[in-house]
Amino acid sequence: MIVTVTLNPAIDISYRVNNFKINKGHRVENGNKTAGGKGLNVSRVLKQLGEHPHCLGFLGGSNGKWIKRQLEIEGLEGSFTQIKEETRTCLAFIDEENSTQTELMEKCPTVSEEEKEEFLETYQQQFKKATLIIASGSLPSWLDSSFYKDMSKLAKEQNIPFILDTSGEPLKLGIEGNPFLIKPNQEELTQFAGKELKTMEDMVEVAIRICNQGVQNVLLSLGEGGAILVRKDVILKANIPSIPVVNPVGSGDSMIAGMAYSINNNLVLEECLRMACACGMANAMEEKTGFVQSQMIKQLLKEINITSI
Ligand code: ADP
Repeated sequence: MIVTVTLNPAIDISYRVNNFKINKGHRVENGNKTAGGKGLNVSRVLKQLGEHPHCLGFLGGSNGKWIKRQLEIEGLEGSFTQIKEETRTCLAFIDEENSTQTELMEKCPTVSEEEKEEFLETYQQQFKKATLIIASGSLPSWLDSSFYKDMSKLAKEQNIPFILDTSGEPLKLGIEGNPFLIKPNQEELTQFAGKELKTMEDMVEVAIRICNQGVQNVLLSLGEGGAILVRKDVILKANIPSIPVVNPVGSGDSMIAGMAYSINNNLVLEECLRMACACGMANAMEEKTGFVQSQMIKQLLKEINITSI
């Protein structure tokens, strides 16, 4: 069983508002309301690939109830830790005419020490069944930046591969927990390196450094440039064809799902990378975030070329 962790979920509501103006009222169609969070996107794609992921995270108040219900409707199971405060809402106003997107993101709820402990207990209960753990997204501000590091260490003690997809300080510290795989994009790797990474060689060099620090796999995603997978013993590059992109939001999450699915099904490394890219690309070709078509994945798998560098 694959376990996904979303510590900072939200109800995402997006409105289409042409000619969005400050200081003006706008009449809009009903907003598109979804259960948001990177780990939840990963779970959705895993489900579409035929897995039965188990979702963990914090949920509170009526928003939390709504998310739980929504996930049930989508056929996703979870053991969420109930918190006293309300799960946040994030609003997006999409103005297609002017190609702008204005977002309002509520601050994350605070979680008591007790609720945090309760989460860690639930997390460790999953170790009996978990074959792979995926932790995605930013950490809520009230959690220590080393929270992912601690989670990774706990998983490693049980020999359960831990995939970490985050950025900034939680990534920097998370690496010290020796995760099985991290998936920075170019911007996140640059931020980690603290200097401009101009060439592919520059990026690979940083990835090798991370591997030497005790991370088994660095999956560097490069958007339309494909991806590079760096391990101590091998470096693979995925060369991808150009595709008609509709909405690339969530492509990184879909890539993680493709990777996790492949690892869970014991595919060889080349095929893991191929599948990861195909899922990221298939998501980018859809309007809906965290949605992939299996026919499209099959087609893309044939068109992705993996080389050793
Ligand atoms: P993130 O969403 O984390 O920033 P990326 O943008 O690098 O991650 O996307 C992850 C993967 O999805 C890429 O490695 C690629 O396979 C696919 N992908 C994303 N954007 C595009 C694009 N514009 N064209 C083709 N493939 C894409």
